Amino acid sequence: MIKNASFSNQQKMTGGIPVLFRKKILLYIIILGLVIFMPANLETANASATQDKMNELKSKEQKLEKEIRQIDHKISENDQEIFKKETEVKDAKEDIEKLKKEIAVIQKRIEERDKLLKERVRYMYQSGGPVDFIEVLLGAQDFGDFVERISALNSIAEQDKTILEEHMSDKEELEMKKTEVANELEEVETNLEELKKLQKELDNQIENKKKLLKDVNMEEDELHMELETDISTEQNTAIETEKKRPSRGNGSFIYPAAGRVSSNFGDRSLGNHFGIDIAKSGTVPVHAAASGTVAKSYYSSSYGNVVFITHNIKGQTYTTVYAHMRSRMVSTGQSVSQGQRIGTMGNTGRSFGQHLHFELHKGQWNNSKSNAVNPIPYLK
Ligand SMILES: [Zn+2]
Repeated sequence: MIKNASFSNQQKMTGGIPVLFRKKILLYIIILGLVIFMPANLETANASATQDKMNELKSKEQKLEKEIRQIDHKISENDQEIFKKETEVKDAKEDIEKLKKEIAVIQKRIEERDKLLKERVRYMYQSGGPVDFIEVLLGAQDFGDFVERISALNSIAEQDKTILEEHMSDKEELEMKKTEVANELEEVETNLEELKKLQKELDNQIENKKKLLKDVNMEEDELHMELETDISTEQNTAIETEKKRPSRGNGSFIYPAAGRVSSNFGDRSLGNHFGIDIAKSGTVPVHAAASGTVAKSYYSSSYGNVVFITHNIKGQTYTTVYAHMRSRMVSTGQSVSQGQRIGTMGNTGRSFGQHLHFELHKGQWNNSKSNAVNPIPYLK
């Protein structure tokens, strides 16, 4: 409108020369075009650039999620392998201890027998040995005495023979047990070497994940809210299972892992925190806080390796959640007892730094987490 007015003034001033007028019209159209159409085009361009940017971010996010999932999977596999090796080493060491005790018993028997045999040899020399054998027989008073003497000498010989046989077999067994110990020790050494290698691999994988997360400059926060999985079917099955068995426990829960509480219930600057975080470095076992049924054990892109346990305590359903674990050691539908190991503390899913995210729900777990309660007062 302002441009229009100024144009009218100019028109009046120039007196309406056709060529100039046409030029003015052209200028007017150009200006109008610049004023009206350009911003509109820019806006469209801006909108599509925003859309492109969003699509790019989304695909980046999806790519990242895939990479995290792969690394988490490797970390989990490795941790389970380490646990297996550690169990093997522990078993082998127990075997070695048992064998050593058995060896000590055999050795003691051998020593005692050695002493006995030496005494017998000494006695035989003192009494003249086989010569004395004839003298004994010749010294018989009558035939009855003679028979008695023969059988006595025989039984002494038999006894010596048995002792010698036992001695030989004990010595053989001792050698076998010693070889067994040597083999077991060798196995332990190999397993320990492999353990070291696996641990190094695990450290590398954890380092890779850190780098990956640093590269994309993600915010240092757990994004638990993003979970979209519906686990109501699994939960209902677990609740049915729990209801069929007598109530277990007295309503108190144990701390699911060692470590310090690094974040409390609700105390988050970014949104609500529906659980507590327990942090500790190294291989930290995670235990079931109370007896119950595993409603679901799976890998979630936000929770990482996560286990949901349904509890029935005096008719009240509770649900505990254990997230970001390095690996899981229980499966969906499994019955667990309080304190049973269910996994290892970790850093899987949307997690920065090793910790256990633990939730307690009075009732079922749901996506809005409306049943979440502060676990601290329940933990003993
Ligand atoms: Zn947390």
